[in-house]
Amino acid sequence: MKFVKFCIKDKISYGIIEGDKVVEVSGDIFGSFSRKNVKYNLFDVKFLAPCQPQKIVCVGLNYTDHARELNFPVPKTPILFIKPASSVLGPEEEIVYPAMSEQVDYEAELAVVIKTKAKNIEKDEVQKYILGYTCFNDVTARDLQKEDVQWTRAKSFDTFSPVGPCIVTGIKTDKLKVEAYLNDKLKQSGTTDNMIFKPDELVSFISKVMTLMPGDIIATGTPVGVGPMNAGDIVEIRIKEIGNLRNYVVKKKEPGKLDMAEVPGRTE
Ligand code: MG
Repeated sequence: MKFVKFCIKDKISYGIIEGDKVVEVSGDIFGSFSRKNVKYNLFDVKFLAPCQPQKIVCVGLNYTDHARELNFPVPKTPILFIKPASSVLGPEEEIVYPAMSEQVDYEAELAVVIKTKAKNIEKDEVQKYILGYTCFNDVTARDLQKEDVQWTRAKSFDTFSPVGPCIVTGIKTDKLKVEAYLNDKLKQSGTTDNMIFKPDELVSFISKVMTLMPGDIIATGTPVGVGPMNAGDIVEIRIKEIGNLRNYVVKKKEPGKLDMAEVPGRTE
């Protein structure tokens, strides 16, 4: 099942994708919900970030080939950091280049969406705490990451956590292909069997550190090939079983005002 959050005529709803339609649901996709007798064409709705997390827990270095590429030893325990909820961005929205950075990178990631409150969960029990999986772009100001002792500033700007387009339930995550495209050119490609810590292990590990809440996102790390984006670029994270998460990179000249001249073909 593919859950989406969408907007049509200023009304925000949850829905399920069926073929080329979105079936509206009532209730709570994290608890109990029911299908309504209302359907929309996929192209008539605007998709939003499919969940609003309290926190986004990210894993720093979780693909063997990426660790090798950077000449880092393979970590013995997951390296965790957190992105704030205020950095969440929906599909088709704009990643804003911060004035204080000169290199903003994409990082294609598979993300887990938590279904129910989870604390101290063992690995073989985690599935019932997971709603599903989605695409995530762990946008990073690489220059600031190198400059700072820790990564909070580099990872936390508004718009630095694109997520979506949907939450897919019931898929196996042992061999998913995770890709990043920049202006339709393939830049990153890895498979989840190259992960050092698997999604179930990560959820268990993190639940032993902090209480996970419905809608919380766990970003499972990025494969080899991260790189920079510039204003005017279109970045896509693709996982075939989930969908394409597309965003546009823009620069702002002054607070609240987009410099549309730097975004070819786009108008306000
Ligand atoms: Mg990352």
